Amino acid sequence: SHKRKLSNDFLLENGVAGSSDTGVKVIVRMRPPNTNEEEGEVIVQKTSDDSLSILGQTFTFDSVADASSTQAHIFQFVGAPLVENCIAGFNSSVFAYGQTGSGKTYTIWGPSNALLEEELSSDQQGLTPRVFESLFFRMNEEQNKHADKQLMYQCRCSFLEIYNEQITDLLDPVQRNLQIREDTKTGVYVENLTEESVCSLKDVTKLLKKGLSNRRTGATSINMESSRSHSVFTCVVESRCKSKDGLSSLKTSRINLVDLAGSERQKSTGAAGERLKEAGNINRSLSQLGNLINILAEVSQTGKQRHIPYRDSKLTFLLQESLGGNAKLAMVCAISPSESCKSETFSTLRFAKRAKAIKNKAVVNEQ
Ligand code: ADP
Repeated sequence: SHKRKLSNDFLLENGVAGSSDTGVKVIVRMRPPNTNEEEGEVIVQKTSDDSLSILGQTFTFDSVADASSTQAHIFQFVGAPLVENCIAGFNSSVFAYGQTGSGKTYTIWGPSNALLEEELSSDQQGLTPRVFESLFFRMNEEQNKHADKQLMYQCRCSFLEIYNEQITDLLDPVQRNLQIREDTKTGVYVENLTEESVCSLKDVTKLLKKGLSNRRTGATSINMESSRSHSVFTCVVESRCKSKDGLSSLKTSRINLVDLAGSERQKSTGAAGERLKEAGNINRSLSQLGNLINILAEVSQTGKQRHIPYRDSKLTFLLQESLGGNAKLAMVCAISPSESCKSETFSTLRFAKRAKAIKNKAVVNEQ
């Protein structure tokens, strides 16, 4: 197996707009005020397509989505390019970062538990079902376009949760405390994790429903449904085709959709005992993510080499490829518009700003 650097010709040939851009794409999404929040409490205003203002400070990202933004808009900005990248053979990840209740789950999967209900109104659908709907459509188009090359796709999905620094298989939750392994050929993988073949959006939705119903949510004194776990949905897409010389070639790309645990500081939640232990561990994965973002931003800016401590937490070890490595990364940073969340919002915006400075090195995996 060898990794091919992308030339401009390759990009043009494949019609992938913006593929040479390896920066992390950062979108800040502000949810609408909820019923406990007064209109007057709103302190965040979108000032243009890519900036917002909060208490006199302006922040600029790749895009800013306010309360009026739709799920379709988020798909257009984050999901559609991810699908094109996947078709072109790149690894792509989307992370949702932010405090509990800011809209991470809504963005990545859809409204809380909506996938578990039979009736999911289509305009509320989250990023993941939209990505797979589009991916299957695009694969079909590509197959028709390249019928002479006998283009074939194969997709395998897995769904896991990192909770208390332990990995649980959400498609087979008796499998707890799974271990991350690294192999020079396949890279980083989770040993014994269930992988299911999928051929349609329906297959994916079935897995999502199953996995989400196995997700753990812990109640704390502040947030009844505070999510203390990170969940990672992964799809490996393999495409095989015959080239002009009759040889068969294989391209592999990987999609990771990641709903991170709430980024809020844990001390005000009155956590005690087992919960405190969880909080400490979740802070380890999240603070390690923050650490890596800082280091990678510095490396990208100064060009100086540094040791990157990927292995210091399960999250960063598992997703190391997405962080400064061979993947395109989009980060959706979710914020609340209200005064009461001010300090968490500033902290999320600072995180988002540092993430913006990272450069990944995405190449096509081809053999
Ligand atoms: P998190 O995953 O960050 O804890 P959720 O996604 O569960 O937060 O969002 C908290 C609540 O706000 C949910 O009831 C969700 O449906 C609602 N919500 C979040 N973002 C939006 C949005 N952009 N539009 C409408 N409702 C939203």
